[in-house]
Amino acid sequence: MSARGEKTFKGVGASPGIAIGRALLVPRHPVQVNYRPLADTTEAEAEVARLKAALEATGKDLIAARQGLAEGFGDYAYIIDAHLLILKDRLISQRTEDLIRAKLINAEWALSDAVDEAKALFKKIKDEYIRSRIADVEYVTQQVLRHLSGQEQSAIAQIREKAIVVAHDLSPADTTQMDLDWVMGFVTDMGGPTSHTAIMAQAKTIPAVVGLERISAEVVSGDFLVVDGSAGLVIVNPDEETLHAYRDKQEAYELYAQEILAQAHLPASTSDGVTVRVEANIELAEEVGSALSYGAEGIGLYRTEFFYLSQKTLPSQEELFENFRTVAQRLDGGSVNIRTLDIGGDKFASSVKLDSENNPALGLRAIRFCLKEQDLFKDQLRAILRASAFGRVRVIFPLISGVDELLQAKEILAQCRAELQARGVAMANRLPVGIMIEVPSAVAVADLLARHCDFFSIGTNDLIQYSLAIDRVNEQVAHLYQPLHPAVLRMVHSVVQAGHAAAIPVAMCGEMAGDPGAVPLLLGLGLDQLSMTALAIPRVKQIVRQTDTQLWRRLAVEALTFSTAAEVKAFMARELARHYPRIFGSQAAA
Ligand code: PEP
Ligand code: MG
Repeated sequence: MSARGEKTFKGVGASPGIAIGRALLVPRHPVQVNYRPLADTTEAEAEVARLKAALEATGKDLIAARQGLAEGFGDYAYIIDAHLLILKDRLISQRTEDLIRAKLINAEWALSDAVDEAKALFKKIKDEYIRSRIADVEYVTQQVLRHLSGQEQSAIAQIREKAIVVAHDLSPADTTQMDLDWVMGFVTDMGGPTSHTAIMAQAKTIPAVVGLERISAEVVSGDFLVVDGSAGLVIVNPDEETLHAYRDKQEAYELYAQEILAQAHLPASTSDGVTVRVEANIELAEEVGSALSYGAEGIGLYRTEFFYLSQKTLPSQEELFENFRTVAQRLDGGSVNIRTLDIGGDKFASSVKLDSENNPALGLRAIRFCLKEQDLFKDQLRAILRASAFGRVRVIFPLISGVDELLQAKEILAQCRAELQARGVAMANRLPVGIMIEVPSAVAVADLLARHCDFFSIGTNDLIQYSLAIDRVNEQVAHLYQPLHPAVLRMVHSVVQAGHAAAIPVAMCGEMAGDPGAVPLLLGLGLDQLSMTALAIPRVKQIVRQTDTQLWRRLAVEALTFSTAAEVKAFMARELARHYPRIFGSQAAA
């Protein structure tokens, strides 16, 4: 037993694996902001100059961090670009200047006020992407405050021996300064499963636990830690017995991880010979390379919102086309399902003017928005059609609720094709059209929809939200967000049946598709393709290979007989442990 005793903290597992080693605490407490009234306008102008210098210095740091991105981090340059945008945003910089002059207050205080106002605006939007932007705003603000107060930027660059990095929060700019060869694990107070720390850690296969709230206040540099990134646990100063158990677990996990990665490029054929396409979901063209390296056989969902979220002006058709063409070409024969814009509702964009709505999730979102804003929609469709000359491109419409919407969208697509054809623009002869099944009404009329499209892809993230009436980003009801709810399973089943009756393939691209514990059941329910975050692919493929679809067809029939999600969960836990003891048994590695 160590002198300080073993203590376990539960957070969010952000990158799987086990790390065991000494803590290196990154001492980064928020900068203390004090109020200082100014005497007159001359002082105010001096204060504005001080603010401008701090903004400029922060900008220089960010640009340096972006230029210093290590190999493999190219995909994340956009995060630093977002920081630069925040820095220049008038809501922050101009507003701070205005507050200094109007209220005759010091720059630090004015900046904090301006940021509080901006955060209050952001908080009204319950989208996870926007929430992550709040964390970015906070990060950028801290950097500016540090320059204003003349404090040292960071102690991060000083890692010179192997250690587990413990911090209040880390940004990409922080991690780019680190020599990641020395980093055994990441442990942070802040962050969720899609935070930057999580993304970085996953990309570099470094175990990470985030969202621990106060761990940076509980740990001192030199403490011995166990980080269980799979279970989301951090054990501080473990006793001998715990340490021993975790060393065994670490060894088993590493063997398992090597094995699944080595097999990631093999096709996903079940033990009874059914081939399942396993594809990746991406949000940026730059992600294609890493998706392929994880064994993706194509892009099952290209979310194209980034163009509209990240810049102030609408993307041009040319910009979209170049991007889509790049993706199609990089796939080297694999196909890409390009989703038309899914904006509106709770996804807000600086380039698109949206009216505020009382019930945005049920409002002018996705295909509804595009059918209203047809010029914007047509630019996307033309870009997709043009890209189809360069690879296997397909289009997928989000949030389709019934046949009329699908027919309208197809009609506009046909108009775009005719226009391009008249101008002699090269296109594939046929552009397959798919729809996301994510509204309960689409499930009910799936047989009718199947007559008018080439494939279905079930978006469980929204389908669960709309069918169980659970806001997908509201923590208060998060426990009710249940992928194994009998209603969800029945819907998946009936969509597969409708698709197959019309001889069209049925995919799933919501988070559920990448959950290894759900995969055998999904195959039993008859899904043909699964699309997920690239990192989940090796594990999912490995499970597919060990799955007997005949057996799981029978088990799926049984799963459909249960009355509650808890019963289905218990049933699945039993069956998974029985049929995949190494992965889901009590001695499982991960
Ligand atoms: C879904 O709803 O499951 C989906 C994949 O779409 P998004 O998460 O982009 O809404
Ligand atoms: Mg969706």
